[in-house]
Order: sequence, then C-alpha cells, then structure tokens
Amino acid sequence: MPAPRLYVTDAIVLSRFDYGEADRIMTLFTPELGKIKAIAKGVRKPTSRLGGSVEPLAELRVALARGRTFDVVTQVQVIHAWLRLRDSLESAATAWYLAELVDRATEERHEAAGLYALLRRSYELLDAGMDPGRVARWHEMHLADEMGVRPEVDRCVECDRMLEADESFRWVPPLGGVLCYRCPGPPADRAGLSVEALKLLKAYQRMDVEALAALRLPDSVERDVEAAMRDFMRLSLERDARSLPFLDEVRRR
Ligand SMILES: [Zn+2]
Repeated sequence: MPAPRLYVTDAIVLSRFDYGEADRIMTLFTPELGKIKAIAKGVRKPTSRLGGSVEPLAELRVALARGRTFDVVTQVQVIHAWLRLRDSLESAATAWYLAELVDRATEERHEAAGLYALLRRSYELLDAGMDPGRVARWHEMHLADEMGVRPEVDRCVECDRMLEADESFRWVPPLGGVLCYRCPGPPADRAGLSVEALKLLKAYQRMDVEALAALRLPDSVERDVEAAMRDFMRLSLERDARSLPFLDEVRRR
C-alpha cells in the first residue's frame, strides 16, 4: 500500500530554522516515522493560521502533506505545552540539549517509539521541576540503551569479571565502560571515577526516575558522573553536542 499523501502524527520539534520570507523548516521527531523534515509555510507572518503553535519544547499533533523535499505542515494542535519547563532557562537549555542528542542518535523515517517516549518523559520531568542535571543523566543513560551502547558498569569490559566492591577500576568510554585494575588498557584521560560515582551510574541504569529524583548526593559525585557521561556520549555520537556550551553558560550564571 502506498504511503498516504496526508497524515497526522504526534511530534516534538527537535530543531528549526527560518527559510525564505516567512517559512520555517523543522526537524520533527515522531513515534512511528522517527525524524522527518517538514516545512511550515508562511508561519512567520502575523496572519498565519499555524502561528505560534509549531513550537519546540512542546508535544504537538501535526497534520502533514507529503512533499518532494519536505513534508508540508497543514495543521497543528498543541497537546502538551510544558510551560514550566520553558520558565527556567536551565530546564529549557537542557531540553534543547536532549533534543540534540535525540537528533544525533536517529535517522530520518525510522520508527523510534522507544526514543520518542524517552524524550517525552524527560520533558515531562523537566516540566515537573526535577533537577535538570538528573534528568539529563537519566536521559543520556537510556538514550545509550536505545542506541544499543549501554555503558558497562558492573563487569570489566576486557575480562568480563564482576568488579569487587572495593576494587580499583578505570572508566574507559572507548571500551564501553569500566576496566578492572588487572587488565591493561589506555590510560584514563581524567582522574578516575570514584566508587560513589560508579554507584550513581548504576543507579541511573536501575532505579526508576522518581527514586533518582529523591537522591541526596554530594556535588562532586554528580560532577564526576556528568563528566563520565559526557565523555561516553561524545564517543557514542562522535562529537560534542553543539548545545552544550550554552547549557554550561546558563548554569555558570
Ligand atoms: Zn579486567
């Protein structure tokens, strides 16, 4: 059966840019079709019917017509506006970062229901006021899972031995996780991960997100885990996210 010319889908805007006099080209993320490129014609005119509804950081229901290069947005309804997420600059900057990770991790027109649910849930958590750093780590860990590159945090990536509770180890992202003290490997490029930080990485894999939100942890442990996951994501996605410098700047203020 040929694909229908007109279709309706839930979508989250991953990125967008202005095009021509009044149009906007967007990357939409959808559960069934994964990423799609779409154009919203005349959307920047004050009289546009689509108007402000084709917004990022919201869940939309979008009607589209298939086009040659881009599908054309014909109608938009906002399902979830996540207004509290937008109120905080750090939450909004984090949301853009998560959108960029998803954009990097997906291909156009490949079903991505699991990743869609992950991004949607992360935005709900940011909107509910969960600490943006915790949401970002939880999202990175589960994104890695969806990509099939779940970090190994229990067994040595070389000899497959379970790490002992008090054994020293190295975090080696190019090898996919932790390396035991017996196995040779590349030198760690930063000070080793603490035992507490490794525990927190395990928690991100195992604990449900409500329990993670309630953890009380020293800043140093959170920073270690952030650096560890940043290295891991950079390697998995083959470069640093462009949205990170802005997020870092927002957090310094
Ligand atoms: Zn080993």
